[in-house]
Amino acid sequence: MTNGRRAIGLDIGGTKVAGAIVGEDGTVHGELRRNTPDNSDAVTMNDLLRGMVEELRASEAGAGVSAIGVGAAGTVEWPVGRIRWAPNNNYENWDLRADLEAATGLPAVVDNDGNVAGLAEARLGQVRNDDMILLTVGTGVGAGIVLGGKIYRGPHGLGAEVGHMNVNPDGPLCGCGNHGCLESMASGTALTRMGRSAAAHDPEGMIAGLAAESGGEVTGRHVTMAAMAGDRTAQSLFGRLGRALGVGIASVNAIFEFEVVLIGGGLVDAGELLLEPARRAAREFHYGPPGVRPLPPVLPATYKGDAGKIGAGLLALEET
Ligand SMILES: [Zn+2]
Repeated sequence: MTNGRRAIGLDIGGTKVAGAIVGEDGTVHGELRRNTPDNSDAVTMNDLLRGMVEELRASEAGAGVSAIGVGAAGTVEWPVGRIRWAPNNNYENWDLRADLEAATGLPAVVDNDGNVAGLAEARLGQVRNDDMILLTVGTGVGAGIVLGGKIYRGPHGLGAEVGHMNVNPDGPLCGCGNHGCLESMASGTALTRMGRSAAAHDPEGMIAGLAAESGGEVTGRHVTMAAMAGDRTAQSLFGRLGRALGVGIASVNAIFEFEVVLIGGGLVDAGELLLEPARRAAREFHYGPPGVRPLPPVLPATYKGDAGKIGAGLLALEET
């Protein structure tokens, strides 16, 4: 057990809620994990979170907990801690910060999940940096922008939605209702869509075969497995996905001038299959000659699924 302060970090996603006690150095004690209930309204979620906090506080490392931090999927008002809306959950206009503080008696902070993950990477990752972006490529595309050592949120916490930056106005429909957002072209959802189309065109191919073996529809996971096994079609889909990601990297870096770009989320497990085309496109669309305006390195993130809860705990320790 480490000395120093400890906070509870909670990471609320569309499919699961993760929690842990987090030390100032990012050490994780006593992890918990629950499935996000199908009916993820505020009443149901408040009960779930209160139970998780009680269980963590009752654990051996729980005695010294002084605050709670939450990273949540969706549009989160900062510093109020009200979740206005989340595309994959039922909660809306949920005063999570106030509800948590009332239920637990501990000070709480609530932020967007991408923001807190970015904070974890900026402070504690292998490539620590005060001017960086983390892009998480999973079901959607999340982002955490850290500038001058601080999370960039915009005036109300509603900024830094890099996943919904447009990279193709004629592109596919995004979960947000627009067409051609980065998320619609460079996420696990995009990979699933492209994989289904490829399998429909080539029912004898490896992607279709892997889906048939698992007895279900094609998912992004089948495309990843096929690409790692050397299937050319699946690799070309990663090429398209990585290219869209690289276009997004070049665009967002044109605005902010980062020193490093980190890629996290489940799809980074595909390694160079994703990163190589992303770097190539980032170079292709980069603004300015390299000698004048260098392209920052594009590297895999340090924390995988843990970034959210570690960053949430860290934010609570910094802000309370
Ligand atoms: Zn969108």
